[in-house]
Amino acid sequence: HTVLNGDATHIRTDSAASFKRVQIINDEKQFTPDLAKQIEHWSLHNAGFDYDIVAVFGSQSTGKSTLLNRLFGTDFDVMDETRRQQTTKGIWMCRGKGMNVMVMDVEGTDGRERGEDQDFERKSALFSLASSEVLIINLWEHQVGLYQGANMGLLKTVFEVNLALFGKKTADGRNQRTLLLFVIRDHIGTTPLDNLQTTLTADMQKIWDSLSKPPELQDRQLSDYFDMSFSALPHKVLAAEKFESDVQELRKRFVDKSREDYVFKPAYHKRIPADGVAFYMEGIWEQVQTNKDLDLPTQQELLAQFRCDEISAVALSEFNEQAKPQRRPVESGKVVEGLGAMMRSWRSTALERYDRDASRYHPGVYKRKRADLVGVLDSTLSPLFLGQLKNMHKACLVQFKQEMHEGMRGENYNFAEIVGAARERCEKTFDEGAREAVPVEGEDVVHWTYDDEFTLLREEMSSIADQCRKDETKKMVNVIERNFKKQISEPVDLHLTQPTPNMWDKVLVTFRDTLGKAESAYLVKAKSFNCTDAENTTALATLRKRAWMALRAKIDEQTADQSFLAKLRTFFEERFRYDEKGVPRVWTPSDDIDGAFQKARDETLELIPLYSKIAPVEKSLAYTLPSEPSDSLASSEEDFDFPTTLTIFTETKALDLTSRFRKDADAFYVEAKRSTVSSVAQ
Ligand code: GDP
Ligand code: MG
Repeated sequence: HTVLNGDATHIRTDSAASFKRVQIINDEKQFTPDLAKQIEHWSLHNAGFDYDIVAVFGSQSTGKSTLLNRLFGTDFDVMDETRRQQTTKGIWMCRGKGMNVMVMDVEGTDGRERGEDQDFERKSALFSLASSEVLIINLWEHQVGLYQGANMGLLKTVFEVNLALFGKKTADGRNQRTLLLFVIRDHIGTTPLDNLQTTLTADMQKIWDSLSKPPELQDRQLSDYFDMSFSALPHKVLAAEKFESDVQELRKRFVDKSREDYVFKPAYHKRIPADGVAFYMEGIWEQVQTNKDLDLPTQQELLAQFRCDEISAVALSEFNEQAKPQRRPVESGKVVEGLGAMMRSWRSTALERYDRDASRYHPGVYKRKRADLVGVLDSTLSPLFLGQLKNMHKACLVQFKQEMHEGMRGENYNFAEIVGAARERCEKTFDEGAREAVPVEGEDVVHWTYDDEFTLLREEMSSIADQCRKDETKKMVNVIERNFKKQISEPVDLHLTQPTPNMWDKVLVTFRDTLGKAESAYLVKAKSFNCTDAENTTALATLRKRAWMALRAKIDEQTADQSFLAKLRTFFEERFRYDEKGVPRVWTPSDDIDGAFQKARDETLELIPLYSKIAPVEKSLAYTLPSEPSDSLASSEEDFDFPTTLTIFTETKALDLTSRFRKDADAFYVEAKRSTVSSVAQ
């Protein structure tokens, strides 16, 4: 017996309603739809296997109901002496007072004696035998040995059908075993019980031997299916006191588990959980009624299917109730705190509930239906799990970006360190969260992985970091470029206002030195950015090209028409209007104006070819750039051809500048001439 102690003590509180009897089969031979509810009223539905069933068999008016009421405290109808009226036909059931026992009393006519239809008797006897652990066979002492009078003929039929229908072994390989407890009534005592017992045993054996058995059960013995036990009671009226005390003695055999002759031995139990009894009995009755071939294993499997489905549905609906409120937040993108713990709790509660109630049923069916239940539970949990992962993924990326931005707020940060730290924290957050979100425990965990989601998160963090690094690199190159421009501005201006043959050498040295500093500034920063070699190559090429363009812009400034012509004019004036000592000349008619003019003009004109092309005297200083460096950091740029950038003035331009300068120079010449004339005129 599986003893549910809590329940057992609980149900031993007697109350009028909880011992109400129920007519399980009425005189129309219909099975009551109320039995399951009644078992609940009796507080037996949670008893599991901790209950027993007893039924009674015997001729009409042999004191069966009287005996049951005495033994179990029930209130079955007893025939009224004064009116001798027949009680309602049918099978009644009642819970034994103070005990987990369902007692069945069979009411009926004695068909044989009254010449009525024996159908009901046969069916109710068969039903009692098939469904109870102990069958009390009640008979008068004087019926012993009387085959007809003791209903032995009926017993034979019942045995026969019972063997055919229920003779096969159960799923766990046992025979259905039943105790036949013979109670001999109005025992006078002249024939000792032992002798009566011998007669009854021999009669039973005779009946067994005469049964027509199914071929596969030919060898089965009476003892394979039945145990027999015997008891005698004195006359209820003539030996009233002894009757009562003997009944109380007999009652102990139904109550005291420690007694050796305790009747409810585990071997007799039908192994139907209490909450399945109603369905099971109804099934047996239906089969008995329709005389369909039936064996108990099949019946038990049917019962198991029905009950396991019911139990599963209850567990599932509770589970769904719990899961429902979390669905919306997850769907709306929220990371639900402690969702995994909740899911594990719903799931295990549902399975515990199912296991508690369903594990008592047919093992195969129980396992199959459990697997079904697990499937349904997991298919409900799966979208929650995946939703939670998705939401965490999003939240982690937000966190990652935020940490990166915060880290790069200052001036001297190490990009690689910031990315590494942010990545580590986010991975930890995700991993911990994902592990928490797994809705199962134990071995099942292997079916709930988040590797793909983790990989995806890592990839997305990498691409965010890459993009960020590119943006940062771009900014950095821009800053370096700006600094470069500042740095070359003054020296280049200076070199270009002092036209000397090695003017370009000086410009290029300045350029090279400044660019060198810019490049190393880049490399220092780039190291902390974890830039790839390819990225460095591109960035440096860009930097060089932009530096060159900056230089070129500076040169353009200095060689723009007006400023270049001004430069020539100044150069010319310095030579024509001032003497070697830098003193302004005052022309006198004796001066060689023409000679001085020509000399100054020709020297000045030499500057035009000097400025026309960036050409250092020292050839090794010549700077070259690959003609088309890819500039990934610039959005768009015109075609760039390095060699053409070396030319400052084209030939046409040079000619144009020459002629414009000549005009300027001529003006100086004329002015000089006029000044001599005027001095002579004075
Ligand atoms: P049932 O039809 O087998 O259920 O018998 P009942 O319990 O209704 O009793 C039928 C009649 O027999 C009633 O009048 C009882 O008082 C009487 N009766 C009950 N027990 C005994 C008994 O042990 N001996 C005798 N002689 N009569 C009994
Ligand atoms: Mg009765």
